[in-house]
Amino acid sequence: MFEDTASALFGVEGLQVTGVQAAPDGGIEVWVVTDCQAAAACPDCGTVSGRVHETVVTRPRDVRRAGAAVDLRWVKLRRKCANGECPRKTFTEWVPDLPPRCRITARLREQAAHEVAGRGIPPAEAARHAGISWPVAHGAFAAAADPVLGQPASPVAHLGLDEHRRGRARFAVDERTGDYAVLADRWHTCFSGLDGQQGLLGQVEGRTADDAAYRLAGATPAWRDAVRVVCIDLCSIYASAVRRMLPHATLTVDLFHVVQLAVKTVGDVRRRVVRARYGRRGRCGDPEYGIKGLLARNLENLSSGQFTKILDTLDRDRYGQEIAAAWIGKEKLRDALNLRARVTGSVPCERQVRDRLFSFYDWCAQHDDIPELVTLAKTVSRWEDQIAAAVITGLTNATSESLNRLAKLEAKLAYGFRNPRNQRRSVRIACTRGSRRRSRTATSTETRTVTGRKPIPANFEGPLIEQAAQESVHGLVEYVKAHLPDHHAVAGGPPQLTPDQLQLVRTVAEREARRLDISGKRAGLLADAMVGVLTAPPAS
Ligand SMILES: [Zn+2]
Repeated sequence: MFEDTASALFGVEGLQVTGVQAAPDGGIEVWVVTDCQAAAACPDCGTVSGRVHETVVTRPRDVRRAGAAVDLRWVKLRRKCANGECPRKTFTEWVPDLPPRCRITARLREQAAHEVAGRGIPPAEAARHAGISWPVAHGAFAAAADPVLGQPASPVAHLGLDEHRRGRARFAVDERTGDYAVLADRWHTCFSGLDGQQGLLGQVEGRTADDAAYRLAGATPAWRDAVRVVCIDLCSIYASAVRRMLPHATLTVDLFHVVQLAVKTVGDVRRRVVRARYGRRGRCGDPEYGIKGLLARNLENLSSGQFTKILDTLDRDRYGQEIAAAWIGKEKLRDALNLRARVTGSVPCERQVRDRLFSFYDWCAQHDDIPELVTLAKTVSRWEDQIAAAVITGLTNATSESLNRLAKLEAKLAYGFRNPRNQRRSVRIACTRGSRRRSRTATSTETRTVTGRKPIPANFEGPLIEQAAQESVHGLVEYVKAHLPDHHAVAGGPPQLTPDQLQLVRTVAEREARRLDISGKRAGLLADAMVGVLTAPPAS
């Protein structure tokens, strides 16, 4: 092993430190000599030679010491081969960490490879830090990464498919027509396990059905059989690839994209209506413009003030009512999607989902004068089976989307890639880094539905109950009052309801809750609100 402390600290097997001094550029100059018996053996014939031909000093690159660059000076001997029949006349000494003709230590390559693969630093930056060239750093990274990525993926039960652009699309103006023509627009299709255990499973260049199918065809039959559910965006190309290669798997669509489409529809209607009404684009100061952000929000996240603002704005004329119809259509679609277990806490049955979707279609049919709403209904009906499956299984493509974000970040960090193969390697390494850190090898192939109730937002009950109480109480108050002839009979002190009367109010509230399709807990709140209205002192 090492003969002295300095050599042990330096840590290259076979080299002995003879001197260390500060270099003029702020680094450290380390002088070493060979301290290895095997280094005196001829690499061709293996004869140990004691005859020195000359002394040479080489300066191989080595890792930094405490942040400072190391200027390594290796004083080594060129020996004459003692075997007269050996074709090699002379040879220089070498150690395993610095093979013949190698000017970079193995540990420096390893460090550069680790910085790229393990820490996400681009090869160019790792090369700059190590004082080596980009090809060497990238080559070290590729040599380290390829064996890791070459391992076959474990089977997954839930597969996600998504795409991202490889770089920027390039256009050129057509000389004759003056139109823009696409020169290059390259995409990558990504495959990921939705349990998120393995990161990115693989990529393929292009985004046609054939591209995706080709990648799936490359997997083993056992791997394909293990896939139970495939989640995609609203993309018919991938749907056809999945039907072709994974005919047994259930196809679902990511519900985020369904809601996104509905929100876009509301925006489209609003823009068209505003243009029809004012003859120009909407702008700050228009009432419709003031609520455009609120229309995109979920109903349950609106405060009662915001809810009232929307109603007041849209209730004024037929233009506003057209926007309101689109907005209600969006919420009706969301009603169907909100049946998923993540929201309700229990897995819905298919009938429930289809019933609510029917109620959405029905609404759209009643407003078939709004072309955007009709288009939305047609799109949703085309994907109805996949939407219902997504609501029932509760699966989302969120894992694929998060990996897409990482893929795009990787391209930005590298200022774009010229070579698609290098891009795929870098992206794949970046998108499996987390799973390598967890070092999990086996993943579950069990199909499971996502359950677990999300906490109800604090302001959820407010607008809904208020609205329901306003609507139903005012409609029903006469009816209830008819059954409560003496509800304000107690003179002096606050009005009280008898137990029988309370029971009646509760029954009415429950019936109302069923009509409004709100849950039992909120039926109680509705009953409280009704009691509040009934026991309020009569306005004088
Ligand atoms: Zn020899």
